[in-house]
Amino acid sequence: MNMKIDPWSALSIDDYSKLFEEFGILPFDQLLPEIKDPHRYMRRKIIFGHRGYDLISDAMNNGKPFSVMSGFMPSGKIHLGHKMVMEEIIWHQQQGADAFVGIADREAHSVRGFSWERCRDIGVNEYITSLIALGFEPEGHIYFQSDSEQVKDLAFELGSKANFSELSAIYGFTGETSVSHMLSAVTQSADILHPQLDEFGGPKPTVIPVGADQDPHIRLTRGLGHKMNMFKIEGREDKKGRHYFSIRSKSAPEDTLKELAERIPGTTKLFEGHVDVLDFDNFEELLKTVRAVELEFGGYAFVPPSSTYHRFMSGLQGGKMSSSVPDSYISLTEDPKGAAKKVKRAKTGGRITLEEQKKLGGEPDKCSVYELLLFNLVEDDEELAQIYNDCVSGQKVCGNCKALAAEKMEKFLKEHQELREVAKDRLDEYGL
Ligand code: SF4
Repeated sequence: MNMKIDPWSALSIDDYSKLFEEFGILPFDQLLPEIKDPHRYMRRKIIFGHRGYDLISDAMNNGKPFSVMSGFMPSGKIHLGHKMVMEEIIWHQQQGADAFVGIADREAHSVRGFSWERCRDIGVNEYITSLIALGFEPEGHIYFQSDSEQVKDLAFELGSKANFSELSAIYGFTGETSVSHMLSAVTQSADILHPQLDEFGGPKPTVIPVGADQDPHIRLTRGLGHKMNMFKIEGREDKKGRHYFSIRSKSAPEDTLKELAERIPGTTKLFEGHVDVLDFDNFEELLKTVRAVELEFGGYAFVPPSSTYHRFMSGLQGGKMSSSVPDSYISLTEDPKGAAKKVKRAKTGGRITLEEQKKLGGEPDKCSVYELLLFNLVEDDEELAQIYNDCVSGQKVCGNCKALAAEKMEKFLKEHQELREVAKDRLDEYGL
C-alpha cells in the first residue's frame, strides 16, 4: 500500500486505521481517560488520532504552560470544516493554552495566486470574524503570516534545514513547483514552532489540531524542530548493563557541553561531541537543564509539536464536500433558511420504503443528516444516542429527523451570524 497524504489535494481518507500503521499516528481514545471534560469531538472519536498529545494532557492536568496553534488558508467561504478546527482551538484556549491562529496568506498568494488584498479580505471577513463569534478570547494571538516578522524570520532559518528532496518526498513537489510554494511549506512549519520563541514564553508543548490531510506539515515540522535543536539525549547501556544518558551535540558550540557537564547533577564525563551522565536518572530534570543551556547559548530547544487528527465531514449529498458544489456544504455566512433547505435535501441512510425502514432500521453511519447532528448540532451525548438507537431500530423516519436537523442548523446559523455582527465591532481588541 502506498498511501500519500497531500494537503494540497482533496483526498478523502476512507480507512483512518491505515494512518496508524503507515504514518505512526496514535489512537486518541487511549488518552481519553487523562482528559478532564473532553470536547465532544474527543468523546465521539471524531478526533481519532494524535502525535505527542500526552505532553498536552500532562500540561493541562498539571497547570504547565502549553500552546495551541492552527492556521487557515484564506481560500473562500468559511464552512463547517473550518468551524471544527476553530472549536478545537477555542476548547484548548479554555483549558489554559496560549492560543495562536495564523492566516496563511503567504500560502494562498503563492499556491492560489490570490492578491494580498483578497487574502486580507477573506481572512478578516470570513475566518477571523467567525473565530471571534465562536468564542476565541483576545488574550490569544491572531496574525497574518505576511505581517509576522517572527514567522518570516523563523521560516528562513528553518529553510536552511529543509531541502528539495525532503519537501518533494512529502508534498510531491517537482521541478515545476515555484520557490514561493516551497517557502510557504516552511512558513507553515514556522507558524507551528513560533509559539515556542522567547517572545512567546519559550519552549513548551504546542498542539496543532488538524485534519489527517495536514499530517505532512506536522511530520516535516517535527523533523525541522529536531534538526534546529543543538542536542539530542540518548538512553544507553554500558558493558555491565547499567543505564546512562548520553547528550550528543549536533551543532552546539564546544562551551555548551562543558557547561552541561558542570551543571548536571551526578557524575558526568565530557567527551568530544558528547557528555555522558552516569548516575542521574531523572530524565525530566535532565531535559530541563539541557534546554536551559541551549537557550542561554542562543538555541531554540524546541519541544516537538503535538497534533490531533479529526475525521472529515462528508458532503451533504454523500462523497466529498466541494466548494464548487454549493449543495455539498454549509457555509457559516449563508442564508439560514437556505441552509435548512439544503439539510432537507441531504442524503440520508434511510431505506427505500417506509416499511423497510421500520423493519430493517436506518443506517446512521451512512447518513449525512446524522453526521451533522454528530459533528455540529447535538451537544448532549444521550440525546444523540437516542437518535441513533431510534434510527437503527426503525422507530425514526428520515423526514422527522431531517426537519429536526434543519431547524437546529437554521437556529445555529442565525445565532452565529448575529454574533458575527458583534465580532466585527471587536476586531480592534484582537489587534486587527
Ligand atoms: Fe439518518 Fe435520521 Fe434517516 Fe436515520 S432516521 S437514516 S439518522 S435521517
